[in-house]
Amino acid sequence: MSAGIYLHIPFCKSRCSYCDFATDVYRESNAVERYVDALCAELKKFQPRICADDADKIRSSDPRDRRLSAANSFLPADTIYFGGGTPSLLTADQVERIKEVINTHFDLAEDAEITMEMNPATVSAETLGAYRSLGVNRASFGVQTFNDRDLKLLARGHDANDARETFRLLRDAGFDNISFDLIAGLPGQTLDDWERNLDEALKMQPEHLSLYLLEIHEGTPLAEQLRSGRRPMPDEDIAAEMYEMMLDKTSSAGFEQYEISNFAKPGFESRHNTKYWRLDPVYGFGVSAHSFDGVLRYSNERDTSAYVKSIEDCSTAEVMREQIDAASEFIFLGLRLNKGIDIDEYRRRYDTDIQEKYGAELRDLSDKNLLEIAEGRIKLTRKGMLFSNEVFAAFV
Ligand code: SF4
Repeated sequence: MSAGIYLHIPFCKSRCSYCDFATDVYRESNAVERYVDALCAELKKFQPRICADDADKIRSSDPRDRRLSAANSFLPADTIYFGGGTPSLLTADQVERIKEVINTHFDLAEDAEITMEMNPATVSAETLGAYRSLGVNRASFGVQTFNDRDLKLLARGHDANDARETFRLLRDAGFDNISFDLIAGLPGQTLDDWERNLDEALKMQPEHLSLYLLEIHEGTPLAEQLRSGRRPMPDEDIAAEMYEMMLDKTSSAGFEQYEISNFAKPGFESRHNTKYWRLDPVYGFGVSAHSFDGVLRYSNERDTSAYVKSIEDCSTAEVMREQIDAASEFIFLGLRLNKGIDIDEYRRRYDTDIQEKYGAELRDLSDKNLLEIAEGRIKLTRKGMLFSNEVFAAFV
């Protein structure tokens, strides 16, 4: 088994109106430099978290639990993911420093997938060429919509032409694995608007698309605009039609849906993100980063200055550590994937027959046409993808 490495870069040029991520507005390069120092220090200090007490507790509750071997060892890594925030605000020198620490302290596969999240209007031919030569081989950037009116509503800080230009620059720099995100169900967005977005995205022929329905997060400017009536509430029925449209159009264009919101040309599924859905280990570094080592989930401080100070003072910024209910999480994360859950794998991992344990829930969800059980797998139906939260709640 190989792990993934996640690096959180919490700086953005401005704050989007719907965003609740841990991110700071980029003001001065010194703060970024200090943050990169802290990130490198955290990477150098990394070690498995499982301690003898935790191991004994788990062993005594389930003597055949194989998760311990993953948590006890320092696994090789085959993916790196620079997420944010806007990692493309890093200079090539800063990316090189981080990459050198990883090369020295981790056993990184030669063919590792190395993704960097980017935002339009933050990249140039020169920086993209430098990232590419440092081994970044996958780019994921936020388009969200090709409609300038909607980009303003989202306070994205770029226009549609910036997004088109970013795609062109990426191709020119040699990126042959490009993903971008679009959001459906924006306030005032019509089905025709969404169709135009999808058509343009598919015409550009990226290798991967992430297509989300808008989520409203409390405390964001967009949530406030909707509450005060300054923007119309997104219409749920239209959003459902948009979802159906994205399934049909992506499929006709040769994309395979492999997760509720993710679509890829064959062979271009995100290796890194699939680790989350399969509950495989991912080590996270940086402010607010979460990790899962096979047994324990732990996370870092959410405030950037506090994160940097904690690392500088005592080398750790961990604020939460818990042993998760892996058998339950494996179900609702695995159900996000189109191929669903392998019944035999569940039995091997958790020494439990899922159909015995959840017989009533599985029957009920199948009767409602939200789940199907076939060929040794349990997976969501099309309807189940739209009402996935109802399905997941049955297994919590
Ligand atoms: S670019 Fe992404 S992380 Fe940054 S503010 Fe916008 S949505 Fe949030």
